[in-house]
Amino acid sequence: DTNYHYIVPEFHADQAFSLLSHKIINEYKEAKNAGIDTKPVIIGPVTFLLLGKEKQADFHRIELIGNLLPVYHQLIKELDELNVQYIQFDEPCLGTELDARELAAFVAAYQELKKAFPHIRFILGNYFECYGQHLRTILELPFDIFHLDLVRCPAQLDDLIELYPAINWAQAKGPKFSLGVIDGRNIWKNNYEQSLIILQKAVACFGIDNVLIAASCSLLHVPCDLDSEHKLDPDIKKWLSFARQKISELGALSAIMSGAPNAGKLLTENQLAIQSRGGSEKIHKSAVKAAVAAITPAYASRLSAFAIRQKKQQQHLNLPLFPTTTIGSFPQTTDVRQLRAQLKKGTISEEAYTQAIQEATIQAIRLQEELDIDVLVHGEFERNDMVEYFGEQLEGYAFSAFGWVQSYGTRCVKPPILFGDIERKQPMTVAWSKFAQQQTTRRVKGMLTGPITMLQWSFVRDDQPRSHTALQLALAIRGEVMDLEAAGISIIQIDEPAIREGLPLRKENWAAYLKWAVGAFKISASGVRDETQIHTHMCYSEFNDIIEHIAAMDADVITIETSRSQMELLDAFVQFNYPSGIGPGVYDIHSPRVPSVEEIETLLDKALLVLPATNLWVNPDCGLKTRNWPETREALEHMVQAAKALRAKFEVPA
Ligand code: GLN
Ligand code: ZN
Repeated sequence: DTNYHYIVPEFHADQAFSLLSHKIINEYKEAKNAGIDTKPVIIGPVTFLLLGKEKQADFHRIELIGNLLPVYHQLIKELDELNVQYIQFDEPCLGTELDARELAAFVAAYQELKKAFPHIRFILGNYFECYGQHLRTILELPFDIFHLDLVRCPAQLDDLIELYPAINWAQAKGPKFSLGVIDGRNIWKNNYEQSLIILQKAVACFGIDNVLIAASCSLLHVPCDLDSEHKLDPDIKKWLSFARQKISELGALSAIMSGAPNAGKLLTENQLAIQSRGGSEKIHKSAVKAAVAAITPAYASRLSAFAIRQKKQQQHLNLPLFPTTTIGSFPQTTDVRQLRAQLKKGTISEEAYTQAIQEATIQAIRLQEELDIDVLVHGEFERNDMVEYFGEQLEGYAFSAFGWVQSYGTRCVKPPILFGDIERKQPMTVAWSKFAQQQTTRRVKGMLTGPITMLQWSFVRDDQPRSHTALQLALAIRGEVMDLEAAGISIIQIDEPAIREGLPLRKENWAAYLKWAVGAFKISASGVRDETQIHTHMCYSEFNDIIEHIAAMDADVITIETSRSQMELLDAFVQFNYPSGIGPGVYDIHSPRVPSVEEIETLLDKALLVLPATNLWVNPDCGLKTRNWPETREALEHMVQAAKALRAKFEVPA
């Protein structure tokens, strides 16, 4: 449930494994040569399998555990030869529902590994969720240290304390517990007073020697060092803590717990910072709270049902069958990015910047007209990032200069900091959409980022439930949607690419999340007339299991990523009659390859087997900002040709 992405391992029934990389060994040695004995951290074998997927029917990936464990043996043996003291096995699959077979595989795997290496101390890492119903079984396993994410699951400590006397411990003196009290996923300063209550409770039960103080999860998800931030508002900066500061917090909590001479000072300083945040006027705005309190159920529903809206929109917009459109952005070339860098440095004026962006917008409109696309976009040239751009214009957001975190491979994102009540002071996109619309007689689609994506891709305040913050964001976006409509924009897209990644790890919690997430989207989208067409867009396929909730968002049109999975998504529509307009992406924008007209036609034919022709849209599967112009032009040419060919087949002869 993070914005961290990985390549999903794909398994076959006869999958073989071998130890390929010695990175972990080399890094252990390197640190040791520098005089530091580290604990190697390895993804556990069960999580490795469960977070992958089968590429073949009739087998379950957990059956591969027997093929996989010898590789773990080999790796641990090599580490053992270097005299490693501890190994941490990360098994966040424990935060999901494991069935009996998966849990049995887990138990057997660690019994076997520990038996082979009784002298190495095994640490079990689990985070982002509690152990849930697996807690007891897991505690009876021969781990020397169990880690608990007490930020996500504070109540789990009570479960553990309750179970403690009844467990048949595998370890002679009982295990130790690593208590994740410092939030490894968010950037707020730890509240020592609260952490100390937890730690003292644990010490009273397990003994001082058996409690370790930890971050809730890896610090991969937070930026490196707050000290590098020189432009942040000093009041806000006082409330924050990045990775380096979190490590100091660990030290401070340990010092306070052991009664170090500076304990009192550390605690007082922390209390002052926490208090200054709690009561800050920068965070709490009565007008925002009143607006949220005034939300009624009517805010989340359109005036009429889709069928009625569809008719009115058709009359109003007069679009052809299989309308063509794109997802929003056009190539962000070096030129465009340089303009923004120059503006930031002050080497070009605001006017020169605006003019250059206007020129790029006009060119994009001309190209789309030339390509004969039906619903145009302005191209998003004025945007650095789809969340930051809106965050910068909303009250309640702050920005770091160097707060990068890894999202995938060498890719990083710099999430904005949502610290306070969210307020939209003035229109954020209306001028650009209006400008683009003035250049053409075709419809230009307004382009917004939805409340859940704003939430999901920011560092969000932790002093109120996320569902409440989502309502504030929803109201801000709703205001923008209504302003766009008033400015004559009849088609408005509210992007929600992150809605799926917000799903809780345990399925039993999905319904509650989807209820408030879908609700927030609907509040953002439902302030308009029936004639105004609301689009939404989502990436990262695998929507099959939440398709009903996507339908419940009640957007008039959804564009969705499917091309990489060969329209696997469409399987969902065999059982489920998706009620409204839908554009299953017909080509993969993540690749420079230009799709042929024929392959797009084939995909559209496939889509038509499960979707009514009147609801089918034709579009790429995501924004085009990472592509270059020549391939974009060619791909879109092919896309429009394919749509026209299909239209010809459906046209009723006069
Ligand atoms: N409108 C955005 C774009 O076209 C959507 C990006 C996304 O889905 N991640 O770039
Ligand atoms: Zn996308």
